[in-house]
Amino acid sequence: MIERRSLLEWRPENLAAHLGKLGEPPYRARQVFDWALMRGATRFADMTDLPRSLRDTLAKELVIRCATEIRRSEAPDGTLKLLLAWRDGATTESVMIPAEGNRRRRTVCLSTQVGCDVGCRFCASGIGGSLRNLSVGEILEQAVTIDSVLAGRGERLTHVVFMGMGEPLANYRATVEAVRRINAPWSLGIAQRRITVSTVGLPRQIIRLADEGLQITLALSLHAARESLRRDLIPWATHAPLAELLAACRFYLEKTGREVTLEYCLLAGVNDRQEDVQELAHIARHIRAHVNLMMYNPVDSLPFKRPSRGGAIAFLAALRERGINAHLRESRGLEAAAACGQLRRSHVGRSRMRDDSTT
Ligand code: SF4
Repeated sequence: MIERRSLLEWRPENLAAHLGKLGEPPYRARQVFDWALMRGATRFADMTDLPRSLRDTLAKELVIRCATEIRRSEAPDGTLKLLLAWRDGATTESVMIPAEGNRRRRTVCLSTQVGCDVGCRFCASGIGGSLRNLSVGEILEQAVTIDSVLAGRGERLTHVVFMGMGEPLANYRATVEAVRRINAPWSLGIAQRRITVSTVGLPRQIIRLADEGLQITLALSLHAARESLRRDLIPWATHAPLAELLAACRFYLEKTGREVTLEYCLLAGVNDRQEDVQELAHIARHIRAHVNLMMYNPVDSLPFKRPSRGGAIAFLAALRERGINAHLRESRGLEAAAACGQLRRSHVGRSRMRDDSTT
């Protein structure tokens, strides 16, 4: 049987061209996308303002959503995590994080790859490396799925971060096209300033991104301000010396006028000492970046520990004393296994146990 194509891999103009061959007017394409993206339709049969014959034809050729929801977990603070299985059986995670104190802000954290080659020592997603890139439709579908869940509760998605499984800039074309589609008025219409792309640092791709004419935020996952420690924590960093990376960030700031964010995950006894504050402040000042501190979410089988809250607040205060614009991001959804890759890892672990028991 021929596999039906995925609607979300297309833009309305692609669908309009296809519908033209069927003798349908171009505006039908906008109707279909409106149903699929804004009204949460998962079946062409539900698109009641389309002729029945067209609905039947589309249903034979196309599929609206490709993923199957394998698991859903929700923390008491409202953080919602979905484990999605794609048509080839690959699984990825998408997380919705409600902001504290802002009752309407709803952020989705999207994955861009199945697994990740960056190999951060403290991350569950990096274990096992990267299996494949996600397509633009698969990235968009994560946002649409989360938005539909929210719509069922009378809420909508307001912010998007490309900070889930995978290195977004290693899947450059799909990531940039997904940004454009999430922003498009015919799609979710989320403002570019509410979209953040997070990278561990590929200098050439950062420069390319600066030239895309987008107004998104670039977040650099720094995690260590000293070259040797960074290479220990992020094996991939050997390909991108800090000096080169910081020059690319500086270029991004100058070209787009958008300040870069430095993401810094505090690991107890590893990167949260006084000398780390000094080095981090030096870098932040050099590229005029602000700093987002996070407290590590422990992962079973990895040796890293979460710092005490008091220690994290002292680190934050020491940065601010040095004139750095810094925040401590509240760790959300520990109960939903919100640390990157944990839900998938527990699912893969269980599947393996099942497989092992059958051999
Ligand atoms: S933290 Fe991000 S970049 Fe690092 S291994 Fe995990 S998914 Fe990859």
